[in-house]
Parts: sequence; structure tokens; C-alpha cells
Amino acid sequence: MAWDFSTEPEFQQKLDWMTAFVREEIRPLETLELTWPQLLTAIAPLQQQVKAQQLWAAHLDPELGGQGYGQVKLGLMHEILGSSPLGPIVFGCQAPDSGNAEILAAVGTDEQKRRWLDPLLAGEKYSAFALTEPDNAGADPTNLQTTAVRDGDDWVLDGDKWFISNASTADFVIVVAVTDPDAERHRRASQFIVPIDAPGLEVVRDIASMENPSPRENTYGSHCEVTLRDVRVGADALLGNSGDGFLIAQKRLGPGRIHHCMRWIGQANRAFDMMCERATYRFAHGSVLGEKQTVRNWIADSAAEMQALRLMTLQAAWVIDTQGTKAARKEIAMIKYFGAKILHDVIDRAVQTHGSLGYSSDLPLDFMYRAARAARLYDGPDEVHRDTVAKLILRGYEAPTDRIPTEHVPTRRRAAQERYAALFDEILASV
Ligand SMILES: Cc1cc2nc3c(=O)[nH]c(=O)nc-3n(C[C@H](O)[C@H](O)[C@H](O)COP(=O)(O)OP(=O)(O)OC[C@H]3O[C@@H](n4cnc5c(N)ncnc54)[C@H](O)[C@@H]3O)c2cc1C
Repeated sequence: MAWDFSTEPEFQQKLDWMTAFVREEIRPLETLELTWPQLLTAIAPLQQQVKAQQLWAAHLDPELGGQGYGQVKLGLMHEILGSSPLGPIVFGCQAPDSGNAEILAAVGTDEQKRRWLDPLLAGEKYSAFALTEPDNAGADPTNLQTTAVRDGDDWVLDGDKWFISNASTADFVIVVAVTDPDAERHRRASQFIVPIDAPGLEVVRDIASMENPSPRENTYGSHCEVTLRDVRVGADALLGNSGDGFLIAQKRLGPGRIHHCMRWIGQANRAFDMMCERATYRFAHGSVLGEKQTVRNWIADSAAEMQALRLMTLQAAWVIDTQGTKAARKEIAMIKYFGAKILHDVIDRAVQTHGSLGYSSDLPLDFMYRAARAARLYDGPDEVHRDTVAKLILRGYEAPTDRIPTEHVPTRRRAAQERYAALFDEILASV
């Protein structure tokens, strides 16, 4: 029997260290609203401590400076880091840099690794990933229209991108663009490494959003509009082979969704702790809130839902570790929409338990609530993941040849009567 739900004691020690470190050293920084340069200064000594603990950039293999932990361990780490929006960057595993590093590690040339991956891993450079476009459905990226046209040895990129996370603080952007419009739709696109200061690339604005209703320039966590006008890059900007754009994108998405879900559990846990704490002392109508049945239901339901999500996510991570990302397709899609709902519901209950205080910006709940809404959209909207799950499940079923449901009782009864006819004859004969 190999159903083991325990964590090795040595790794648990690391997780315990992370839990205390995030609570005591990282969460206080959240309250300061630092600009990007200020944030980099503040987190530099913390990043050194993480490196000393050998927990830096743990998503990568040891030869690339990571720990080679695999997805289950990484998932457990992200659960702790996700409780703070600043957790991942202090540990060198923040999106989209972690996914970009994985891509560069997987398909980058030696020169691309030296120029882009090494400084990314060292925390000296930061990056963005530009796929989504304002005028095309991001849910179906095969519609994308940004082009990269060959000109001698160079490529010339043109197009509009938006909701490009961290573009305004990035040193380079990995841009997905159509290189062969006539190819089969999954082979039309390629990926390019474009320096942020490439002539013709403009970060037009930080887009105001539910998450950041008043975006401040040069701040970590922006989502930006980016235009590319005759942006010329050399042949060495192409990542992997021409036409491999979507294939490469898939490499980052599977494990990335595990990390998202585990971070969401970390967020949900934080909201849950706030809800439970409030329930112990807020007094109304003759008792503390924790004695109201509704609030007790919220606590019990939240605990059960978070536990379910945690186990589902770790199991999906285990399938990736043991059988590869492709084998975990259904599990990964399932946790994406299931997790987004639980994240929302737990934060929503925590807001409700706190009343006007929960709605105010005096608690982190308002930001968490607004940010949680995006979970149903990024890395593919819920509906697309549900569609994938249903499609994969339905592959295991086929229509009955006689078009009568397999469980049709009159049909089954007739079959049973025939099968047991001799037995019934015996019973009747013995009466
Ligand atoms: C906070 C945040 C950060 C992001 N960061 C990045 C980033 O760094 N880089 C990047 O490239 N992109 C990023 N995105 C963009 C994100 O990936 C897209 O928003 C997402 O893929 C959906 O694309 P869309 O917005 O164009 O919506 P659309 O594709 O227009 O979809 C709109 C709605 O249509 C419905 N729909 C679509 N397809 C189906 C279907 N098959 N069945 C049923 N309903 C369907 C869904 O309800 C969906 O929500 C980010 C988005 C957010 C919100």
C-alpha cells in the first residue's frame, strides 16, 4: 500500500521555517506599499536568508540553481508562500518568472540561458509573459494575431498585448507571436525573448483593475498594456523551434496551476484564520459569532472545502511527479476551477463575518477578495477547464448499442429473470 499522506520530518522542518519566516519577515512588508526599487531593496536581505536555507528557486533542477524538489514538495511550499502576495518573490519562484525560467531551462540555447536564465535565477532580472491580446479571445490563444515576420536573420514583431503581469517592472518579455499563419492552428505561433527596452516595444500603461483600482507606476504586481511596433529582434530571440509556441506554453501551464492552487489554499487559510479569530470575540444578539450556527457552518464548510482542495491539488502534483504532466491533465484542470471557487467562498465568508471591517481596507480581506476574482480568469477561464474535464471524462463512456440506458430497470429485470430462471423454478417447485 502506498497511500502516504505524511511529510518527511526533514522537509517539514523547512516548511516550519518558511511558515514563521513568511509571517514574521514578509507579511509586515505588505503594509508599506513600496515602489519596485524600494521593494527590491527591502527583500534583498530576505532573499539571502532563503538562499542560505537552500529554498531559493526551488522549482528548478539542481544544475540550474534550484532544489529539484518535484511538484508535491513545491506545492507544499507554495501553500505557505501564497499566504502573502510577496511570499513567492522572496523565494525566487514568483509568476511569471518561475514559468519563464522553466521554459528557458527546457528549450533555451546555452547563450539564451547565459543571457536571460542565469540573471533571472539570480534575482538580478525580472520578466513577463505576453500571450493575451485585447482584440482576441485569450481563452482560445490559437486566434492570436501578433505577428513575427522573418527579415533576413532578424524577426520583426507587431501587435497589441494586454494584462501582461509585471511588464512595467520586467527586464524582458517572452512574447508569443504568429510566425506561420498558414500552419495548422496549434503550429502557427512561436515564442520570442524581447528586451523591455527594444525599440518599438512600449509598456503603454498599468491597467486599473479590481485588484489594483488605482495602479501606481513602477509597482510590483501590475497588469500592463504592451504594444509592439516593428520590434526587431535577432534570430537568437526565438525560443525553441519556430511553430513550437503553444507546445512550449503548455510546459509552463501544468505545474504552474498546481502552484496557483496551493497559493490559493494559503490565501484561503489566511482568510479562514481571520474568520475564526473574529468568531471568538465579536458579540451580537447574546453570544459571540462563533456560537451562531451559520458562522459555525461557514467554519466547518470552509475547513472541509480547503481540505478537499488541498488533497486534490497534492494528488494532481503527485500524478505529475510520478507520471508526467500529460497524465495529470484532468486533475490539473479540475483543481483550477474548483480551487478558484473555494478561494472566493472562504474569503467571502471571512468578509461577511467581519461586517463593515471586512469590507474596509483596514484588513487585507478586501484586497484578497478582489484579487481572488481573477483566479477564475487567468491561466484559462473556468469554463474552458470544466470543458476539458468533461471532455476527458466522456472519453471513458460510449453510447449503448441498443440506445437503451445500461441501468434501465425493466431491461435489467428481463435479463435477470432469464439468468435466474432455473433458480426460480427450483424455488417454486419447493413451495
Ligand atoms: C490578473 C490577471 C493576470 C493576467 N496575467 C497575464 C499575463 O501575465 N500574460 C498573459 O498573456 N495574459 C494574462 N492574463 C490574461 C488571461 O490569461 C486571460 O484573461 C484569459 O486567458 C481569458 O482571456 P480573455 O480575457 O481574452 O477572455 P475571453 O477569451 O474573451 O473569454 C471571456 C469569457 O468567455 C467565456 N468562454 C471562453 N471560452 C469558452 C468556452 N470554450 N466555453 C464556455 N465559455 C467560454 C468565459 O466565461 C470567459 O471568461 C491575465 C489576466 C488576469 C485577470
